[in-house]
Amino acid sequence: MPELRVVSPPSPDVPGQASDLVGSLRTYFEGGSTKPLAWRLSQMDALEHLLRERERDILAALRADLGKPETEAYSSEIGMIHSEIRLVRRKLASWMKPERVRTPLVAMPGRSYVHREPLGVTLIIAPWNYPFQTAVLPLVGALAAGNCVVLKPSEVAARTSALLAKWIPKYLDTKAVRVVEGGVPETTALLRENWDHIFYTGNARVGRIVMEAASKHLTPVTLELGGKSPCIVDDTADLDTAAKRIVHGKFFNAGQTCVAPDYVLVHERIHDALLNRMVGTVREFYGDDPKQSPDFARIINARHHARLAGLLEGADVATGGQTDLERLYVAPTILKNVRPEDAVMAEEIFGPILPVIAVPSLDAAIAFVNRREKPLALYCFSTSKAAQDRVLRNTTAGDTTINHVWMHLGVPEIPFGGVGESGTGAYHGRHSFETFSHRRGVLKKPTLPDPPLMFPPYSARKLRWIKRLL
Ligand code: NAD
Repeated sequence: MPELRVVSPPSPDVPGQASDLVGSLRTYFEGGSTKPLAWRLSQMDALEHLLRERERDILAALRADLGKPETEAYSSEIGMIHSEIRLVRRKLASWMKPERVRTPLVAMPGRSYVHREPLGVTLIIAPWNYPFQTAVLPLVGALAAGNCVVLKPSEVAARTSALLAKWIPKYLDTKAVRVVEGGVPETTALLRENWDHIFYTGNARVGRIVMEAASKHLTPVTLELGGKSPCIVDDTADLDTAAKRIVHGKFFNAGQTCVAPDYVLVHERIHDALLNRMVGTVREFYGDDPKQSPDFARIINARHHARLAGLLEGADVATGGQTDLERLYVAPTILKNVRPEDAVMAEEIFGPILPVIAVPSLDAAIAFVNRREKPLALYCFSTSKAAQDRVLRNTTAGDTTINHVWMHLGVPEIPFGGVGESGTGAYHGRHSFETFSHRRGVLKKPTLPDPPLMFPPYSARKLRWIKRLL
């Protein structure tokens, strides 16, 4: 097993191996320190301080890893966490209260409850595209629910990983939260351990590895995966609004967003009009040379740059198409005349390339979507309620925003997660708290009365009564 780089104040009781690490967290968890409301809120305060006091460092790390413009970095990586912490502060006490549920006649007299208990020692594995938020947002949920956590940031976003490793131990309770940096060997070592929950965000290939490892200990998993999220534009859509929102949602973070619209299916009657408006919007947002724009991010590394450049080979480019490996730049690109069998339609693009496909009808768009894996998100631009309803009724997706893209992430009451190939489980807001809690059913009965109805010796009369009750 490789030596784990466990980041915490150096102390003799923080051994470097995965099993010792889990063992020490488990001992702390069993001591009960993480269960009280006061401890959970203290961790929220600590995270809030980290966000405020280290904001410049976080923005600098995100700029170094992905060239993230400050507005994008703040809104999607820091602001979202502030909102989540505020919600937890307001609601946690009520979420933690045992929930009284109805007791049926057969269990009377008695009172029934659902208690939310922390699961125990949990593992959070994060990806590189929103390297801060995808690590810290689940951490908020795990701590709000009273768990211990090992956080494994993505080694691919090295600056943000180092930042998390440096600052989390300086703010949070190090007996409950550890950061382990590293790549495949370190994650593999961690995955051998017996966790009470594994929360993984990343691609489906590794999702399968995580699920297989978890199955050895029957550990429950949340898998926040990706895939090709379609964007349907019907012939009643408001084209100016659609063009702006699609272009912004696609090229935010240079398209490296799990819920970015992966491709557009547009009614053939408005295809040219939408395409022209989107091309115009790209120029409006990023100027004549988007490489000079301070508002456009960079590709994470050379491997992904090469992958994206490969998708552009032989493509029919409506705008963009330029690449610069040295500066990890791929221009915001819109492709036209795309065929379903083209390479760009085979896998999640995860970069600033937007294929646009004309379809003869809404039903054709729906059929196109349904021939593919269940997406993480599906978007529909239409002013027709009937068309919106038809799309909702006849497709499935992790989540959907109508007449916008990925704004559902801003609604904490919406469970954020995938379905099928795009993931299992969900989080955000109360859903995070639920994901990291065990719902324990509790029935409290008085000792008397104690009717003999259920007890032997059985009789026809007792059975008649039981049949009436059940
Ligand atoms: P990544 O390469 O950083 O991998 C994710 C994590 O898995 C990392 O921490 C990495 O160390 C670990 N890992 C990689 N290979 C492993 C292996 N063989 N065994 C064990 N662990 C391993 O990130 P990625 O997977 O390229 O992330 C991009 C994907 O994540 C996209 O598909 C995107 O759609 C998805 N994503 C989903 C969400 C969501 O919330 N649903 C959010 C962000 C990204």
